[in-house]
This record gives sequence, C-alpha cells and structure tokens, in this order.
Amino acid sequence: MKARRTVAAALSVLALTAVAACGKDGSPNTDTAKSGSAAPQLPTYQVNADAKLDGSPVWTEAKKNGKLRIGAKSDQPFLGFEDVQTGKRNGFDIEIAKMIAADLGFSADQIEFKTINSSARETSLSGGQVDYYVGTYSINDNRKKTIDFAGPYYIAGQSLLVNKDNSEITGPESTKGKSVCTVTGSTSVTNIKTYGANVTEFESYSLCVEKLLTKEVDAVTTDDAILKGYAAKNQGKLKVVGNTFSQEKYGVGLKKGDAVLQQAITDALKKHEQNGDWKKAYDATLGLSGADAPSIPDLTEKAAG
Ligand code: GLU
Repeated sequence: MKARRTVAAALSVLALTAVAACGKDGSPNTDTAKSGSAAPQLPTYQVNADAKLDGSPVWTEAKKNGKLRIGAKSDQPFLGFEDVQTGKRNGFDIEIAKMIAADLGFSADQIEFKTINSSARETSLSGGQVDYYVGTYSINDNRKKTIDFAGPYYIAGQSLLVNKDNSEITGPESTKGKSVCTVTGSTSVTNIKTYGANVTEFESYSLCVEKLLTKEVDAVTTDDAILKGYAAKNQGKLKVVGNTFSQEKYGVGLKKGDAVLQQAITDALKKHEQNGDWKKAYDATLGLSGADAPSIPDLTEKAAG
C-alpha cells in the first residue's frame, strides 16, 4: 500500500478557498469568475447521439423512457453531494456518472440521480431501481455474487477521522475499545471490526460526522477520499489520522448479466481517462479536498470480473 501524505495546513486553506470558489453545481461562481481567479474547470461531455446498445436490456429500457436513473451518494463532499436548496449534484462520482451517460447517449437533463445509501446498493441494482451506480463503491468478490462492476476508476484506502484535539487515536490499532462510527453495508464496517473497535453503524457517513463533532463517538472510519472531504468542510475541528489500512477500488455498479452495458461503461471510462476528462474532473472536485491523486487505475486489469 502506498504511503499517503499528511495534508498540510496550507493545503487545507487552499482546499477551502477552492471550495468557496465553487458554485452550486460545482462550477465556478460568477464572483470568482469576475475576479479572474483560476478555479479548476469541470470538463464538458459530448453526448454520443449515435450510441446503440441493443444487446443491453438496461440501456434499451432507459432509451425507451428517455431517462437514465443513476444511483449516487448525496452527503459526501467532493465525491457525491446534493445541494438541498437547488437539488443539484456535484463531486467526482457525479462527474464519472455524467461522462458515462454522455457516451451512452443521454444528455445531462435526461439523468435522474437517486440517492442510495451503502446498505441498499446491491438491492437497488438487482431490483432495477437504478440503471447504474456511482458512489464510492468498492469492487469486491462478495458484491460480485449479486451485481457486476465496471472499472476501477479510482483507488482509495480506509482511514480514520477524529477531532483535532484527539491524540489517542493514531491508526486502526489504537481504536481497540474506542467508539468508532461507520456505515451499514460498507467494507469499512468489516475492516474496522477486526481491530476490536466498539462499532456504531448509521445509514450515512454525514450522520457519523455529526456524532463525532458532538463527541458522542471517538472516530469515524471509511475511505480516506470520503474523510478528507469532511475534514476540509470542518477545517480546524477534524483531522484524518494514520496510514490507510485497506485498498478500495471504486467501480461502477450495474445489474448482473448485462455484459453489453458493462463493456460500454468500461469503454467510456477508458476514453475519458485517455482524453484528459478524468484528471480535469478530479482536479475540479475531489482534488480540492486534498485527497491523493493516484495514478489512474489500469482498466485493463481484470478487476471488474
Ligand atoms: N468504499 C467502501 C464501500 O464500498 C466504503 C464507502 C461506502 O460505503 O461507500 O463499502
């Protein structure tokens, strides 16, 4: 596992400045644009009007309805976040979802995002409530029994978020007997239990962060990419500690057996990684939280299965 850098205070300040520079849909706001500050720009995605995936039952149905339903998170800053006032979504996962949609022939206004928490991902895909899912979803063999993945498109690792004044928790070994909050149905639950932590489970990570801020729990654990977003949003209050202690390869989840759609999503990810959209999207979203910019995962590896 690769060593991860500690986010320097200067970087956090930079992150917050950049966050403040974002409009509600993730685009730079007009004040910033006027002042000429160079906030990273989101890529735009050309819709492939000729897309034809006749062998895909999911695509065929979506095309018939003129609407693509995508499962996502809504409370993970810089990854999958919904502005409750406007209903607009932003974040790296949202960009991944949109670049794929464009290649499948769906414009942004034909996308319907649905918030699906970690515990409901497999059932929402198998039950056909969403056409695909993009939300910090780790590829693993257990999940592959009921759904398929395309990807990976990002590699994260599990870590710990604590209050700034906490010097007791420095890594997973020091969580023994401590109250640690995480989310039901995540790989984070399984991993942290092996260290003897006293685990509290909620339906979303933002609920855990609330409990951490009020000191009802000692730590929150999940992927570093997620935790760094909360730390950046609560600057001066929370910090991410220790090295990562798992490898989480993020994939796009889809209904089992739709090989045509799986291949089309893999092709879309490859194309947008090669044409620079992946990096541009990363810089304008997740990169602002101080999360590592890992090299783009090798999509040719047989991780998706
Ligand atoms: N990536 C992990 C998982 O898929 C934890 C984050 C999440 O719950 O989305 O379980």
